[in-house]
Amino acid sequence: MSSSYLYHAGGHAFVLLEGFGEGEMVPTNQVLIHNRNEAILLDPGGHKVHYEVINEVSSLVPINDLKYLFFSHQDPDIVAAANAWLMLSDAEAYISELWLRFIPHFGVDELMLPRLKGIPDQGMRLPLGDTELLILPAHFLHSAGNFQVYDPLSKTLFSGDLGASIGPPYVEVEDFASHVQYMEGFHRRYMPSNHANRYWADMVRTLDIDRIVPQHGAIFPTASLSAQFIDWIASSPGAVECMSEVYRVPQ
Ligand code: FE
Repeated sequence: MSSSYLYHAGGHAFVLLEGFGEGEMVPTNQVLIHNRNEAILLDPGGHKVHYEVINEVSSLVPINDLKYLFFSHQDPDIVAAANAWLMLSDAEAYISELWLRFIPHFGVDELMLPRLKGIPDQGMRLPLGDTELLILPAHFLHSAGNFQVYDPLSKTLFSGDLGASIGPPYVEVEDFASHVQYMEGFHRRYMPSNHANRYWADMVRTLDIDRIVPQHGAIFPTASLSAQFIDWIASSPGAVECMSEVYRVPQ
């Protein structure tokens, strides 16, 4: 695992905490964005990576600067350590309002619950320091209530599970065609439908994107590679289109 600044200019920065988790765990990427003295941690991760992520984050910013936690969706590799993060900081935690009543099942202390905030289906804008982040709808990619973050200053789209790759031996994609093998199986099973892929592609093509940073695996570090990913997902089938033959009573 490692952490590195991918953008740092004029008091605005983001750090990629990359490749946390090992063995049977799917490795996760965490992202810390900070502007002036306010920070947001995207998809903080589960219990097993929680201490390492806390160490990294507190070496980068004072923990009191952590204003928000953002959960792209409700999976355990994102939300499981929610209580620890809420106890440790004064941050508000944002997640789709669909999951507000499910998160307490991860063991969130009652005193922390008022700081759990629901994001409406249409998304929202979140002020951070002197800037504003866009919380973009990405429903069904792959969760029913799913959001992504776009940072207009670094022109970076933090895409959660969309664009995830499993096991590439590099951190930055260089050649799109040879990277597809690490994404294909995941997207054809975890992403439900080409309809959602296309809705998403139409939305993000209106943004100025210099890089895409998924929650697992390698990042798309340029505008051109990001555009190739958007074209690829728009033409990719989802699980519903791929697995009609699975709907059989097991023999
Ligand atoms: Fe997930």
